[in-house]
Amino acid sequence: MDSDTEKVESYGDPISSIVTQQENLLDEWYLKAEKYWSEIPATVDGVLGGFGFISQIDIHESKKFLQQILKMKNAPKTEHALDCGAGIGRITKCLLSHVFEKVDLVEQNPQFLEAFKNNIEPEISLKIENIFCCGLQNFTPKEEFYDVIWIQWVLGHLTDTHFVKFLTDCSKGLKSNGVIIIKENVTSSGDVEIDSEESSVTRPLSVLKDLFSKAGLNCIVSCKQKNFPKGLYSVYMFALKYIY
Ligand code: SAH
Repeated sequence: MDSDTEKVESYGDPISSIVTQQENLLDEWYLKAEKYWSEIPATVDGVLGGFGFISQIDIHESKKFLQQILKMKNAPKTEHALDCGAGIGRITKCLLSHVFEKVDLVEQNPQFLEAFKNNIEPEISLKIENIFCCGLQNFTPKEEFYDVIWIQWVLGHLTDTHFVKFLTDCSKGLKSNGVIIIKENVTSSGDVEIDSEESSVTRPLSVLKDLFSKAGLNCIVSCKQKNFPKGLYSVYMFALKYIY
């Protein structure tokens, strides 16, 4: 058992209590997700689960949210952003590279990162500083390095313990006035819903907020995504800052 696994505790979320009891179950949880994503085409439709057509409206609302954050008092600078669970770099290409001078990406699927590198316009390529092929459960951002850390549609793959550890590490990775932005599906049932095919969970707002505060983070602005098709989970955006 490695030291990371020994430290694992449960925060009451069913999946964490199940998968963290035994090391092999925890490995299996992440390996299953890795396998699932390795079989998904490296396209916008692929990373959005067949809903590629919502990409534009997703980016449109994200842009409005980011502009709001950048206009706040004590706003983050626009020097360096990190795109977490970046997939094929959809958010980097359509949003972050237009706002920030430099963008880093972290993503566990090497094929997605290859597709990103092979389909990138030269002017965007100039802005890409680092590409990390790594699961977020094993990734620690460099300290005081980023103005904005963007985490979209990937935290459902992390157990509660890794979720809290990753956000805690992200908060240390922020420069002063830096902000973590999370965009995530949310259940309306009030329960954590498990998708065992892709090895992920969807959490209710109450659980997300609890995990944010366990990571020492304060939600400074949040907003519900508008204009998504009916039948999808509700999607929320949260801007988080460290509580001093
Ligand atoms: N955020 C991107 C991709 C969303 S799809 C976008 O909105 O376009 C979810 C992505 O998370 C996939 O690329 C998948 O490979 C990645 N992923 C899944 N589990 C992960 C983990 N543990 N660490 C890092 N990335 C992970």
